[in-house]
Amino acid sequence: MELKGRKTLVLGAGSSGLAAAKFLSAHGAVVALHDSKPVEEWTHDARSLKEGFNVALITGELPSWLLDQIDLVVISPGVPTNTIPARYVDRKDGEVIGEVELAYRFMKGRIVGITGSNGKTTTTTLIGEILKNAGIKTLVGGNIGTPLLTLAETSTDAGWTVVELSSFQLETIRDFRANVAICLNVTPNHLDRYESFTDYAAAKHRIFLNQTTDDVAVLNADDEITIDWANGLKANVVMFSVKRDLEEGLFLRGRDLVCRSSGKEKVLTTRDRIALRGLHNVENVLASIAAGLACGVSPESMAETIESFAGVEHRMELVSEIGGVRFYNDSKATSVDATLKALEALKEDDGKIVLILGGRGKNAPYEPLAKLIEEKVRTLIVMGDDGDNIESQLKHYATIWRVGSIAEAVRNAAESAEKGDSVLLAPACASFDMFKSYEERGEVFKSEVRKLEASSVGEAAVNGK
Ligand code: ADP
Repeated sequence: MELKGRKTLVLGAGSSGLAAAKFLSAHGAVVALHDSKPVEEWTHDARSLKEGFNVALITGELPSWLLDQIDLVVISPGVPTNTIPARYVDRKDGEVIGEVELAYRFMKGRIVGITGSNGKTTTTTLIGEILKNAGIKTLVGGNIGTPLLTLAETSTDAGWTVVELSSFQLETIRDFRANVAICLNVTPNHLDRYESFTDYAAAKHRIFLNQTTDDVAVLNADDEITIDWANGLKANVVMFSVKRDLEEGLFLRGRDLVCRSSGKEKVLTTRDRIALRGLHNVENVLASIAAGLACGVSPESMAETIESFAGVEHRMELVSEIGGVRFYNDSKATSVDATLKALEALKEDDGKIVLILGGRGKNAPYEPLAKLIEEKVRTLIVMGDDGDNIESQLKHYATIWRVGSIAEAVRNAAESAEKGDSVLLAPACASFDMFKSYEERGEVFKSEVRKLEASSVGEAAVNGK
């Protein structure tokens, strides 16, 4: 793809837009970067592109004289594809692609792509580890935080790149081809952006676009959407299930993770040896094994990696055990559904749960949590904007303590917990009322837990029970 002298417009000044603007400029294109926010609110990095990379910074409505000159639009995942500048350039036969597609055109080697409504980051990270530990030259990027374009130059013919893909990113691929493509699950999400659930599912399905008979497609046999896709794909389909034995594929039988191929079976590992908590993580592990096998990794090497994989930060992360009480950080549980998964993941030997809930609500009912809260939760520590709402919906199912900060939440949780209990931050809400991001919320939680650990008072508070 020739970029020299091309007149390009990058829509969205977030991390993938910045990567695109830099890349295009470094390859000799004329670049304008647009964001609807006023330039004063752009990040320092975005504003510095003007001097450093000769990128024009534009905000507000784009005039037609400018759009008339553009022949390539690179659109960020956060910008809807039907935005006027994209439609304008598309109509006059210009190219409209995403940053992932642009990267793909410059990448070497082979690709494992991972999408799904839940579990993408965990699975992407685990597959990255599986390949690295098998001695394969591996890069990891995409939606996980490292824009794919920043990896294009370091990718090699012999290597693999493991790419997390959101539905937004998949909307704007054209030639992108994943040698191994995984769709973990499709559950209602982002329905503010899509016209319907089918529309959203169709975006996810694009991960299989351009796959050939040389490629592998990994599908969840327990998901009613993905199972329906199996017959229509060109690639070789590998299924996984945590609910039933499959004739061919990967599945959970009792505690064993089994691979069955051409009538032969092999137990790869057992649930008891996996550090990751919860049945949903068994799904992620099975999908990762399918990818590992497709990339030629030996079952032995894979088992070792899976057994030692402690998970990804802010996702059921065990922070510390203080006086017999375990503290878990699941700040990434920003929806009621994710909090449900976290509650399900903790079993009897985790004791009663002191659950920290709250933040910026998403207008979803909290009642689906009621049954598990009644069964497993000792105290609900409630904070944030949606506190009143949470309290009114859940007050019949557990004792509620209201707090104003994470520090207070941790102190109160320690006070309430008894030896053998677990304290779980799984807020079921977004973090933006009190924090920049769920990551910041998780960091503050961890730092408060460590402070508690360091203070003998904390130890005494927990042990005092
Ligand atoms: P994503 O990158 O798709 O948001 P993560 O790996 O970051 O997924 O996990 C986010 C949350 O989603 C986890 O804390 C967990 O509650 C839930 N989750 C993870 N994997 C799955 C899965 N396979 N099915 C359902 N829920 C999952």
